[in-house]
Amino acid sequence: MRINVLGVSFDNVTMAEATARGRELLGADGAHYVVTPNPEIVEACRADAEAMAAVNGASLVLPDGIGVIYGAKMLKTPLKERVPGIEFGTAMIEYCARTGKSVYLLGAKLGVAEQAAENLKQRFDGLTVAGTHDGYFADDAEAAAWIRDSGADMALICLGAPKQEKFMAKYGEATGAKLLLGLGGSLDVFAGVAQRAPAFYVNHNLEWFYRLMKNPSRIGRMMKLPLFLVHVAKEK
Ligand code: UDP
Repeated sequence: MRINVLGVSFDNVTMAEATARGRELLGADGAHYVVTPNPEIVEACRADAEAMAAVNGASLVLPDGIGVIYGAKMLKTPLKERVPGIEFGTAMIEYCARTGKSVYLLGAKLGVAEQAAENLKQRFDGLTVAGTHDGYFADDAEAAAWIRDSGADMALICLGAPKQEKFMAKYGEATGAKLLLGLGGSLDVFAGVAQRAPAFYVNHNLEWFYRLMKNPSRIGRMMKLPLFLVHVAKEK
């Protein structure tokens, strides 16, 4: 069942249910993609019909960010739990390593995807990285061909929102991958270029605050959160 929060239809799943579904999709026919919207992305979708269609066209729409959980609760259609994209992605990479499926890493600044590949191969025994490329390319069709030529089963598309969602909606099939995951800044974290918040912040739903302290220039983007809650209150 999907739950509508300001036009974005979220899958009402736990992390365990999400990864079970991800494993199913990886073995299914055709190409499927997963998106992990936070309030900032929901707000971007409200202003961009193509982004909204790309997000809602995903096979799995996971609530990343406590703001979405609060929003759904305020609308009296609560979601089971927060499913952070990076944790979902990590679980899927671990599954690929275990089952001999290969992964392509697309996105982030020059050299980051390669470093992420090295770190992930160290962390997950037997992981095959079919290829990597930075996220600053001119031709989307060409990027899709890099993935197709690599023969990857799964692709991490980390270009920031809503660019990555639009890429997956338009070129998902052309990549030949069975499953594509739109994971924002995750390659920076896997590469060790950016750090995830310590457990205290994650457990107290304060990850957003940690990210703001680390990078105060995000304030403009973060102001989308109160705006999102105002829009939810109006919707109610
Ligand atoms: N990025 C990219 N190509 C672009 C724009 C951004 O590869 O044209 C990358 C950027 O380097 C970063 C990621 O996309 O690694 C977006 O990170 P951000 O922190 O904005 O993502 P979030 O996880 O907050 O959605």
